[in-house]
Amino acid sequence: MNEINSSQFADAIKNDEIVILDFYSTECPPCEALAPKFEALSELYGAHVKFLKIYRQDNRDLATELGVSSSPSIIFFKNGEKVGDILSGGVRRADMQNQLDELLPDQIVKEIKSKIVPKITETEVLIIGGGPAGLTAGIYLAQAKVKTIIIDIAMPGGQVSTTHQVSNYPGFIDPVNGYMLSHYMTEQTKLAGVEFRTAVDVSNVDLIKKELIVDAQETIKAKKIIIATGASPRFINIPGEKEFKGKGVSYCATCDAKYYHDKEVVIIGGGNTAVEESEFISKFASKITMIHQFDKLTSNKEAQERAMNNPKIKILFEHEPRAFEKNGDKMVVQVENLKTKEISKIETDGIFVFVGMKPNLDLFTDALDMDEWGYIKANDEMKTSLPDVYAVGDVISKKYRQITTAVADGTIASIALTKELS
Ligand SMILES: Cc1cc2nc3c(=O)[nH]c(=O)nc-3n(C[C@H](O)[C@H](O)[C@H](O)COP(=O)(O)OP(=O)(O)OC[C@H]3O[C@@H](n4cnc5c(N)ncnc54)[C@H](O)[C@@H]3O)c2cc1C
Repeated sequence: MNEINSSQFADAIKNDEIVILDFYSTECPPCEALAPKFEALSELYGAHVKFLKIYRQDNRDLATELGVSSSPSIIFFKNGEKVGDILSGGVRRADMQNQLDELLPDQIVKEIKSKIVPKITETEVLIIGGGPAGLTAGIYLAQAKVKTIIIDIAMPGGQVSTTHQVSNYPGFIDPVNGYMLSHYMTEQTKLAGVEFRTAVDVSNVDLIKKELIVDAQETIKAKKIIIATGASPRFINIPGEKEFKGKGVSYCATCDAKYYHDKEVVIIGGGNTAVEESEFISKFASKITMIHQFDKLTSNKEAQERAMNNPKIKILFEHEPRAFEKNGDKMVVQVENLKTKEISKIETDGIFVFVGMKPNLDLFTDALDMDEWGYIKANDEMKTSLPDVYAVGDVISKKYRQITTAVADGTIASIALTKELS
């Protein structure tokens, strides 16, 4: 693997059949997470592919020329030409591998695959999910000298990473940006001594044997498991929702509100998240139409008042969306008036859906006791119905889901579990 700069770039790619180039930066957590995966792949594919790294901050013009807008960004070249998709953000090993495999002859791919040596790692505790609950459990466990690994299918931080500002987490006088709070929690956990596997593929989760497979090549075996996989936005399951997800239909204001500067948006929902996020979106959008099924908002009173007094926000009470469509570069919401049953159409630039959350439990097929909404039942020490399996945070059955309640769960589980281990 070689480090190059802009002046070496043209020569570096011209003679080689296949090149993979990593534009990295410093102080970049996803770049740090990527580095060991890039290194491991270079050992595996190095005989057939040239692995190059380039420091983005010192080579900005080249980065712009190649369409790189964030770090890390991985670009593939064949015979001197850019090929495939640029990978960026929390890049997975499998995403790089898939693109390389497509560029190489089948026989060579087979040869490379046959060289993959499965790895087994043993740990005392395996935490699945690196949001506030999992990170807090990790801090307590590492400080109690318990060998702990956290795995996350994305970058650590959880839902907080995509929250604009947090004003109710103690210790910060002024509101703190969600991504910064996530960053502080993650760095604290790393410093405490927890090992991370981030932006990975997780498969074959066996809660009885307490093992799972990471990136199709590392089996992690644990004495105890903590499930901390949190929750994700719920879909409304109407025609057009899946089709236009990420192409006009969004579930994250922090991620996407900036694209609606001086534009019109429709928000579906009227609970806490919908109302609070509408306030944030109104900093960008010129007009917001909120579609809510009930005759009043269901968020906290203070947020309701702010939304009702915001001149940019208009609320359609007792209405429900029936379909999302596209008309040229505009989105269209088919909406039903629940009182009159009349269907009308609203043309808009973008749609945000905030209709609640669902627990992230797709990977767990073992028989865990759940509540009627599909959240894991845990006792007051965060133990589940399966021996040596704990669950914490938004994924468990409870009344209030907040950062403070998630970190409290993580604390309780780790203290209870440390006592059991010692
Ligand atoms: C828009 C928004 C605004 C919010 N604002 C606030 C606020 O101001 N104050 C407040 O206190 N709370 C707020 N919350 C709620 C708060 O973010 C959550 O209660 C908290 O993040 C829950 O933490 P958690 O660790 O349980 O789960 P999460 O934060 O959901 O983290 C779960 C982690 O598990 C990972 N994961 C998922 N599936 C798997 C898998 N199969 N394998 C491995 N890893 C997996 C995810 O990638 C994620 O990193 C907000 C939530 C949202 C959506």
